[in-house]
Amino acid sequence: MNKITILGSGTSTGVPILGCKCQVCQSNDIRNKRYRTSAVLELTNGKKILIDASPDLRTQLLQNQIHQLDAVIITHDHADHTHGMDDLRPFGFKLKKALPVYSSHQAAKDLRRKFPYIFDRQNYFSDKAILGGGIPLLDQCPIEEGHFEIFGTEFEFFFLPHGHEETVGLKHGKMAYIVDCREIPKNIIDRLFNAKLEVLVIDCLRPTPHQTHLHLDLTLQYIDQIRPKIALLTHMGHEWDYLELTNELRRRGVKNTFPATDGASYLYS
Ligand SMILES: [Zn+2]
Ligand SMILES: [Zn+2]
Repeated sequence: MNKITILGSGTSTGVPILGCKCQVCQSNDIRNKRYRTSAVLELTNGKKILIDASPDLRTQLLQNQIHQLDAVIITHDHADHTHGMDDLRPFGFKLKKALPVYSSHQAAKDLRRKFPYIFDRQNYFSDKAILGGGIPLLDQCPIEEGHFEIFGTEFEFFFLPHGHEETVGLKHGKMAYIVDCREIPKNIIDRLFNAKLEVLVIDCLRPTPHQTHLHLDLTLQYIDQIRPKIALLTHMGHEWDYLELTNELRRRGVKNTFPATDGASYLYS
């Protein structure tokens, strides 16, 4: 079986939000502590693939005892999904070869602009030596929509609307991972339904509509159409108390859906 571990289930601020006195941010319930959204896939062949390099990355990898990574998928270039990029340095020390970083062509371009010392190192260090502790060894692998083989196993990537950006959604085996999107186009819903998913991780920012994210009613509508065995809500804000949201789901008669919790793992074929 493959395994997905949720490294973070929180929105861009994380939860608790610094300085916020709301009930969820002040809560002692560990299930209301959410790092920025990211996950790691452990394939049946032992390879580990990180989804997004959140600003909490170092802590997330330490807490989940992830000492090895073989590739990275970046869903889009927003800060909450990329600003932990420099924490990938130690994997370069160990591997002595670059980790592939998969993203859309647009995100690859934006990442070269944001992190020229990492992704445009030939130009950035053309007239100077790399001194000190070194830089993350990462190589960009821009992807198109469609099927793609990574470490001998098939991934499907699809692009989703997210404000001025597009987010890469992905399917691997019977698992799909969809974050930071305003809607899911009908043709993708149909493909995910036909895939008979065992695990769907899906954006659910808050109870009320948002310009660039899914909110509860829309998320549940998509879950109902895709019909995965289990759905995990992620990228959650401080509007969501774990227990209250769980009760709300049961009140609505939704049995297959749970708020994601940081550190939880799920197996899928
Ligand atoms: Zn985000
Ligand atoms: Zn709060």
